[in-house]
Amino acid sequence: MKALSKQHSEKGIWLTEEPKPEMGHNDLLIKIRKTAICGTDMHIYNWDEWSQKTIPVPMVVGHEYVGEVVDMGQEVRGFEIGDRVSGEGHITCGHCRNCRAGRRHLCRNTYGVGVNRSGAFAEYLVIPAFNAFKIPDNISDELASIFDPFGNAVHTALSFDLVGEDVLITGAGPIGIMAAAVARHVGARHVVITDINDYRLDLARQMGATRAVNVSTESLDDVMEELGMSEGFDVGLEMSGVPMAFRDMLDKMNHGGKVAMLGIPSEDTAIDWNQVIFKGLVIKGIYGREMFETWYKMASLIQGGLDLSPVITHQFKVDDFQQGFDVMNSGQSGKVILNWD
Ligand code: NAD
Ligand code: ZN
Repeated sequence: MKALSKQHSEKGIWLTEEPKPEMGHNDLLIKIRKTAICGTDMHIYNWDEWSQKTIPVPMVVGHEYVGEVVDMGQEVRGFEIGDRVSGEGHITCGHCRNCRAGRRHLCRNTYGVGVNRSGAFAEYLVIPAFNAFKIPDNISDELASIFDPFGNAVHTALSFDLVGEDVLITGAGPIGIMAAAVARHVGARHVVITDINDYRLDLARQMGATRAVNVSTESLDDVMEELGMSEGFDVGLEMSGVPMAFRDMLDKMNHGGKVAMLGIPSEDTAIDWNQVIFKGLVIKGIYGREMFETWYKMASLIQGGLDLSPVITHQFKVDDFQQGFDVMNSGQSGKVILNWD
């Protein structure tokens, strides 16, 4: 089968011919229709320090996808051939305390599809049936293929009550702008999002942000004054991974504010702890998606009218994958989809 794999320990990704993956008793064989390129795939593509330490070479990469069930192991229940599915890319152990308590997103033995084991950028993918999620008929293949990052946005945004609250999102990457749309949809008052990339700030406006602020040219204090927010933000969603953005966020939070952190900083980050202590801030780390509560919420949010369509800015045939990786690297994109059928 055709696949995109990390063939060499250097920058790049290669279109290769791979054996069709083998299925175990509890697995599904999925024929992939569409995949999306994640920020993680870009780290792997660019072969940064983290990838060099983490990714086995050679390996098929990718973990954002939609496809169709074409075969299943003999122990699988609850799926049928022809089901349209996406899937949770975090494979959990099932035997640690958190797994046994139903908190699979906190499994200490998690490993990742397309990171620690063969991924979805291929004509066929095998995953445990437990990890698959059936996509309702009225949700398009395009949207289904981005459920993994959409789930990061939903998990983060729904960590705290947003109804009537003022929300600050730092980082207008694909996940930040989806979180902005979710925050508005569920009833936040002002949703202010920051970035230093005007293309992405423009997408954030299309997704419903109250204000999209380029912090390299505009001051958040001015924006807050203009919006009549004298006290600060109630909820912060850190989605840039940039230390300066996190420090700014802590400074702009109201007393008693709540911060959910998804962005992964690439270096040690010093903060002003007095902001946390004297304001009584609550800070929560977010990893992945809740299994599978976040997945049900995603489907329901879309069925309830949440419009994510502006976030998908590019689609390519898989043979033109290089264009997809180039546009992702340029920063002039939202989600980029590769078509396999
Ligand atoms: P992304 O890199 O596309 O987006 C980050 C954005 O932050 C970019 O648009 C960048 O221009 C912007 N930025 C840079 N400097 C900034 C500043 N000073 N202020 C505000 N914004 C600034 O990433 P993404 O795919 O949208 O993901 C968001 C973050 O979440 C990344 O850090 C990613 O690594 C992380 N992530 C975490 C998890 C998890 O499970 N915790 C899962 C997926 C992604
Ligand atoms: Zn576990």
